[in-house]
Amino acid sequence: MSFILQGIGVSEGITIGHAHLAEPAALEVAHYLIPKNQIKKEIARLDKAFASVRKEFELLQSSVTSGPAFAEFSAFIDLHHMILDDPTLSEATRNSIEQMHCNAEWALTQQMDVLLEQFEAIEDAYLRERKTDVVQVVERVLKALIGHPGYLPPASKHVGDSILVAHDLSPADMMQYKQNQFTAFLTDTGSLTSHTAIVARSLNIPSVVALHHARQLILEDDCLIVDGHRGIIIVNPDKCVLDEYRLWQRQLEIERRKLKRIRSLAAVTLDGAPIDLFANIELPEDLEQVKESGATGIGLFRSEFLFLNRDNLPSEDEQFEAYRLVATKMRGNPVTIRTFDLGSDKSLKGTIQIAANPALGLRAIRMSLAEPQMFLVQLRAILRASKYGQVRILVPMLSNVAEIDQTLHLIANAKQSLRDEKIPFDENIQVGGMIEIPAAALSLDSFMPKLDFLSIGTNDLIQYTLAVDRVDDTVAHLFDPFHPAILWLVTRIIQTANRAKMPVALCGEMAGDIQFTRLLLGLGLQQFSMYPAQLLTVKNQILKSHLPDIIPLVQKIIKADNPEKMHALLAKLNS
Ligand code: PEP
Ligand code: MG
Repeated sequence: MSFILQGIGVSEGITIGHAHLAEPAALEVAHYLIPKNQIKKEIARLDKAFASVRKEFELLQSSVTSGPAFAEFSAFIDLHHMILDDPTLSEATRNSIEQMHCNAEWALTQQMDVLLEQFEAIEDAYLRERKTDVVQVVERVLKALIGHPGYLPPASKHVGDSILVAHDLSPADMMQYKQNQFTAFLTDTGSLTSHTAIVARSLNIPSVVALHHARQLILEDDCLIVDGHRGIIIVNPDKCVLDEYRLWQRQLEIERRKLKRIRSLAAVTLDGAPIDLFANIELPEDLEQVKESGATGIGLFRSEFLFLNRDNLPSEDEQFEAYRLVATKMRGNPVTIRTFDLGSDKSLKGTIQIAANPALGLRAIRMSLAEPQMFLVQLRAILRASKYGQVRILVPMLSNVAEIDQTLHLIANAKQSLRDEKIPFDENIQVGGMIEIPAAALSLDSFMPKLDFLSIGTNDLIQYTLAVDRVDDTVAHLFDPFHPAILWLVTRIIQTANRAKMPVALCGEMAGDIQFTRLLLGLGLQQFSMYPAQLLTVKNQILKSHLPDIIPLVQKIIKADNPEKMHALLAKLNS
């Protein structure tokens, strides 16, 4: 049967291929009846799963004995332990197996539903919220029952045209697929600027997120058309539709080849204004794409990706080698290494997210300052690499001046330790700040004297200004880069920095979206940093833009008093 699913296209292009399903969502379990003579065995299977989760909790509890989050973490594990040991979960599940002959997974999810209903009726909001903990504990037991195989699905038989269909993928999961030969990614959850989507874009293959029920509706080996541009999936298309998409695919390929011709041209507007086009990368492996894009620097190296999918932290030498490689290959062009932005949706393996609002919690520079030893290792590695190119340090998620002072102090310590050891580095290494929290945007006057450059992180700036969780697809429609408040903040940052002659780049997803290229040019932006695959399209737009024509229209847009008028003016600007 042919049908269409609509989601959010996060990485453009068209792929035609076969579905390969990732592991089932934890709560999607088989339902079957157990023969009477197997009941005891089924109960033993359940008990074994409970025991194994109990052991996991004990291990987790003993793995964290100190650190800033110790008390919170401990309380979290205690709570999960209590839920696990609560007879309403284990005994009632056992009873269902005994009396109704349900399989253990089915009995457990039924009992979970009963508990969730009881929680729903609780008046106390805090206790009601503990529903999530019940679900998490049940998920763990289910995984133990199923013998959780780990996320990476077994290889598909359709080598070369395999499309991964998953309920959810974390940024760390996506990184694992960098080595895998999938030709598109589809997920039920996600949004345009989630880090998972950003990694998908950096892989430069069509991806659609927020499909809601794709993982349930699509079957292994189904034929799929993935239209990353419109965010559409056509499942088991008929021949006519397939032919049309194949034609369109070929046209896109021709356009892509044509764009390659401008790869080595300088990015200059029609009236002669030079624009820097930099690339965003996650790992040194991305340099191949950077080279193909013709980027003249790295505007954002998301260094935290070096920390994901591993059991230990990367050592100073390992980090140094990664940074040195990028610095050397960029041959004197700027390489902006963002210090690790861990926390929130990018956690170290083995850590469990315990904050109620992780995006507002111990993330990025907050985590670096809470873990100074770990931070110093990174700072020394970056400084050592600075001998091999034009390396710059970029600090994420600044919200106040004290964070800048503390960071500069730690950089000074790292420099001194290298001097003491007679290890060379760039004494004048530049330190910049990401402006991605509204408070930072409003504090530029006190930030700028302490920094050498700024980089606007619109992904987070939008999330924090509009109070829209960037990973939550249920509010993805509210994530609006064109919201007047965002335009006001971005305008203010660019103009304040330009007045102070402080270099300012924009490295959020907005920089790679050609809808906004002319708008940003008209606001005075001279440095854009984006995923490499988008760079030539943006360059093409710059080459066709004439600032004296653009600026008056942009002025009208930022002064417009209603959204319809703004959108009409934006359309005119881009026509
Ligand atoms: C941003 O927030 O815009 C940004 C570039 O950083 P990240 O997407 O990694 O949070
Ligand atoms: Mg950010």
